[in-house]
Amino acid sequence: MYKTLLDVGFLLAAIAFITGLRRLSTPATARKGNILAGIAMVGAIVIALIYPLGGETPAVNYGWIAGGMLIGSAIGWMAAKRVQMTAMPQLVSIFNGLGGACAVLLAVLEMFKASADYKLGIAISVFTLIVGAVSFTGSILAYLKLDGKVRDKNVILPGHTYINLILLVATLVIAVLYTMAPSQALLVGLIILSLVYGFSFVAPIGGADMPVVISLLNSLTGISAATAGFIYGNQIMIIGGILVGASGTILTVLMCQAMNRSLLNVIIGGFGSAGSGSSAGDSMDGKVAKEVSSYDAAVMLNYSTSVMIVPGYGLAVAQAQKVCKELDELLAENNVDVNYAIHPVAGRMPGHMNVLLAEADVPYSKLKDLDEANAMLPATDVVVIVGANDVVNPSALDDPGSPVYGMPVLKVWEAKNVIIMKRSMSPGYAGIQNPLFFNDNSSMFFGDAKDSINKLVDEIKSLG
Ligand code: NDP
Repeated sequence: MYKTLLDVGFLLAAIAFITGLRRLSTPATARKGNILAGIAMVGAIVIALIYPLGGETPAVNYGWIAGGMLIGSAIGWMAAKRVQMTAMPQLVSIFNGLGGACAVLLAVLEMFKASADYKLGIAISVFTLIVGAVSFTGSILAYLKLDGKVRDKNVILPGHTYINLILLVATLVIAVLYTMAPSQALLVGLIILSLVYGFSFVAPIGGADMPVVISLLNSLTGISAATAGFIYGNQIMIIGGILVGASGTILTVLMCQAMNRSLLNVIIGGFGSAGSGSSAGDSMDGKVAKEVSSYDAAVMLNYSTSVMIVPGYGLAVAQAQKVCKELDELLAENNVDVNYAIHPVAGRMPGHMNVLLAEADVPYSKLKDLDEANAMLPATDVVVIVGANDVVNPSALDDPGSPVYGMPVLKVWEAKNVIIMKRSMSPGYAGIQNPLFFNDNSSMFFGDAKDSINKLVDEIKSLG
């Protein structure tokens, strides 16, 4: 009876996870969905803790568990409180890596306990260990790359794809040998090889492909949590793991579509890491980027009919979302139609721009996705690019030698005028030159995005 009640509790938690996840799909319900899933997680943890009190399973040392939970919660709480929005992907990567490390530890413990004759149990533990280890070191390297602590070119070896292939085959051979005849030496070899493979797997992936690798690693951690759930016969771990694995996989596929690349192509790597695109500078093919004054930009915007704001990573750095809304409202008072073009990989995490603009209460109906925005751009008077770069790079369409070639981009150059807000001529995440800056209908508005928009707002107000 006791266990049945707790199993029903697990079932309710699972339903709440799924409902919460479903609600994450639109900004209007996302906050509540997150809270619901969080409550379900607390419930699931409590049930898992009191489950052994019903007997049968061995006694649990609650002191150790409480100590671990306290330390973990304190670190997690502080990290989440302090993190800047722009450093969110790094935090996600670290948390994800720790999930993989947990799966490795669970698998190793279980391998020590398992009988050598129970081949299926050993095979599941081996699988959990490999996937968890790859996710662990892969996520740590992804964190180091995203945080700018490791440069792509410093971790790529010549013929890296072949090195990865050899590592993968060696890992699988040892995995099979261990499953057939477990020994400590093989276990140590398996752990080391899996950890090295995770690092090496992420090494050649870089530049603009990082969003894909982050969501791929996320799905790997989910899969390893699900198989760890099998080892322990814990339904909620299996369901939670499958949900993370499935949503991570769906996101990976969507990201690949957004970049117009196959997953294999991303994994083989090299995109944006050793690209052939020219590096940024003040001139290109003899053309020099021209600047626009805040007064001229204000006049251009004030007397236009339609304006498209294109937010990018720089909007997040400058925290310019609220002033952006102010500019939008001011222009709307003058009957200018203002919309926002949202590229799926703008910023540094999936949905980054949606989150920021929702925080500033920009109506969701004004956010146009890639296809909608591209259809509207030819009829747009002025495009204001707020700290975006790679997502508006025309080389993605017309320069087969460019590392971003093939990625769908916002065709801002089709609008009548383009104002680009950024602080310098520095490149974006992919580290490449952007020919857009040198077009006849483009002008640069240098400065921090928030300061620049504030200047525009003041100028427009003074125009009366
Ligand atoms: P980019 O990284 O291409 O460009 C951002 C631009 O913002 C830079 O050129 C920078 O120029 C400018 N900038 C930085 N700070 C400020 C500031 N305070 N004020 C004004 N401008 C500023 O950004 P995009 O959003 O266009 O593209 C995202 C890139 O990140 C893509 O390559 C994507 O693949 C990658 N990526 C995306 C992830 C995701 O999930 N969305 C995850 C990981 C990577 P300057 O220094 O001159 O100011």
